[in-house]
Amino acid sequence: MSFTESSDRSAKKADHLKKIYYYEVALPLSLGKNLIYSSYDLFQKGDSVWVPLKSRKRSGLILRRELSSIKKKFDVKPILSLNFDRERLSPARMKWLYWLAEYYQYDLGLVLHLSFPPAGAFSKKPVSKTSSLKAVQHPSSPKFSPEALKPSLTEEQKKCLKEIQFSIKWGAEPDGPNQEIKTGEENAGFRVHLLHGVTGSGKTEIYFRLVEPALHRNESVLILVPEIALTPQHIERFSLRFPGQVACFHSGLSPKDKYQQWMSILKGEKKILIGPRSALFCPLPHLAWIIVDEEHESHFKQDEKLKYHGRDAAIYLGKCLNVPVVLASATPSMESWWNVQSGKYMYHRLKKRVFKTKVPKIEVVDMKKEKKGSDLPYWLSVPLYKSLKESLKRKEQAALFLNRRGENSLFCPACVYHFSCANCDISLTQHQSSHLLCHYCGFREEKPKTCPECGGTELFSFGIGTARLQKELEKLFPLARIVRADRDAVKNHKEWAYILNKIEKREVDMVIGTQMIAKGLDFPYLNLVGVILADQGLSRPDFRSAEKSFQLITQMAGRAGRREKPGRVILQSYHPSHPVVTFLKEGNYEKFSERELDLRKKYKYPPFGKLSLVRIQSISASLAFNVGLKIGAELKNIKNIEVLGPAPAPYFRLRNKYRYHLLLKSEKAGLLKQAGELILNSVKKGKPSAVRVDINRDPVYMF
Ligand code: ADP
Ligand code: ZN
Repeated sequence: MSFTESSDRSAKKADHLKKIYYYEVALPLSLGKNLIYSSYDLFQKGDSVWVPLKSRKRSGLILRRELSSIKKKFDVKPILSLNFDRERLSPARMKWLYWLAEYYQYDLGLVLHLSFPPAGAFSKKPVSKTSSLKAVQHPSSPKFSPEALKPSLTEEQKKCLKEIQFSIKWGAEPDGPNQEIKTGEENAGFRVHLLHGVTGSGKTEIYFRLVEPALHRNESVLILVPEIALTPQHIERFSLRFPGQVACFHSGLSPKDKYQQWMSILKGEKKILIGPRSALFCPLPHLAWIIVDEEHESHFKQDEKLKYHGRDAAIYLGKCLNVPVVLASATPSMESWWNVQSGKYMYHRLKKRVFKTKVPKIEVVDMKKEKKGSDLPYWLSVPLYKSLKESLKRKEQAALFLNRRGENSLFCPACVYHFSCANCDISLTQHQSSHLLCHYCGFREEKPKTCPECGGTELFSFGIGTARLQKELEKLFPLARIVRADRDAVKNHKEWAYILNKIEKREVDMVIGTQMIAKGLDFPYLNLVGVILADQGLSRPDFRSAEKSFQLITQMAGRAGRREKPGRVILQSYHPSHPVVTFLKEGNYEKFSERELDLRKKYKYPPFGKLSLVRIQSISASLAFNVGLKIGAELKNIKNIEVLGPAPAPYFRLRNKYRYHLLLKSEKAGLLKQAGELILNSVKKGKPSAVRVDINRDPVYMF
């Protein structure tokens, strides 16, 4: 017997004595299940390991250890090794990730792997600083010291800061068990704060004051923003105040850059992370605060793959990690507002702007009256035209805001009757100029020739885009320097920065734009804001259209007159007596939300009812429709769920596929989850491969 042989045998014998463990491992694939692997080593939940799969090596995540007394497993492959590049995920993070997968009904393996830096970006060498990060990494010209940038707080700011920092006010605990409220101790565990402050009221300064002591304690802070490309000024301000401490994620980063930013946080080199919703997945060490800026923004919702809502996920992360969450907005979402009303969130209000300038009053122009006898384009009133002329003469800047791109809803300008769906209380959309359609429930009728209210025959269908606006404006003001900013004109971060720079240098007289310009514009010479066709946004086929219009127009109005001069805001409307227009004019958020919540309650829309959107796509329209019908019929068996549709999606044909959807409504979130499982299972069984079905919990966009 050779030496090797004997040692081999004894090794085998030792292996035999050693205990073998079985592990459930999640892989970053859409397998619909986790796999079992074995090892003689003891791993922990949250460890990343290398495992073989179909002759490839994959990184998987240990979910749990199975009891080895379980019957002998055949065909179980061994784990290759620990993946040392990936840190163990904490149980609290794992809990959060499980929740995401379960709530949003998406593959756990795919969710788990979002917690690691972008793949293909591993580079151990230090990477040179790239130009795209310059703004963040070399923020300060030497004349500023961060300390000099620190103003003394206003009374309102002091009060709010104290309330948030020490959780002084009583707030009912969000539904977790035995989480008593400690008071008087900074950063005392999970709680949700809503910081409600008009634009320019100094909310950002409050974030700074929360960040500062956290950094002294060697803790980190996560700041979520809806869309980073639109807020470069924001990042700059943070970097000026906390030089060298700010990491940020934005779409302009290469995977390598993103990896570097991610690692600088993980290693504790930087302690402030500013980013869009995906930043939630970066496991910041010693997290002290989660701040969600502009919490009402729809951009927090992801519509593809894992369809999570960044704000809601932030709150649940705060709960798992026992970290307080601050939601901030000038116009809180109805969901958050309702949570304040029902005592779940703590509420803090900043009513005044820091600088003397008041939030500008909104002047409402009645388009029906104004348009009589004028030969201006149909979207422009005399008062706005005159103000534009004056603005130009004074060498000031004006912004013209178009509330969303044109979508064809129908209304009667004579009596302001609006064609909407009796079942769903949303606008009907005009199709092929021959009929009207409800995109929620599928209700359909021929396009009426007269108004059912007043018999008027001149029905009006909205729809104008920024391009046409620009052309007509250029004709009226041939000498004005006009730029356009919307999704079509501005494709990326760079182009947006270019436009902002031009405005800053006063090389622009008028900016035309959609929601892009409602955010982030902060310029001293911008004193006039015109809201073109305010009604266009109010009549979108979306139950949130009033809320979104209120938020956008309020935000847009806040762009005017931010420095010495008072601003002027002219809102043009065909429905000047519409309650939303009235509340906008009064700047009355409370009254607006009272009315809005009443409507939501009546139609069981969020925050009172929960929604789930089931989308069915296929190259065959009839196939998609029939699958929709079948799913709808199956769901009729679940009590307390209302099923609307199948209805054609607003973008009925996209990337060569036809899209139908069903909208599920229920007061019980659990039932919607159950319905989702039923659908996914039945689709799996039926395997109609020519059809794709996916589920969107708490949908924000309906396309
Ligand atoms: P918000 O985030 O609510 O829109 P900001 O934090 O941007 O408001 O504040 C508006 C402006 O007021 C900024 O230029 C900011 O630097 C300044 N500011 C904030 N707080 C104070 C303060 N206490 N004293 C002086 N200036 C302040
Ligand atoms: Zn309907």
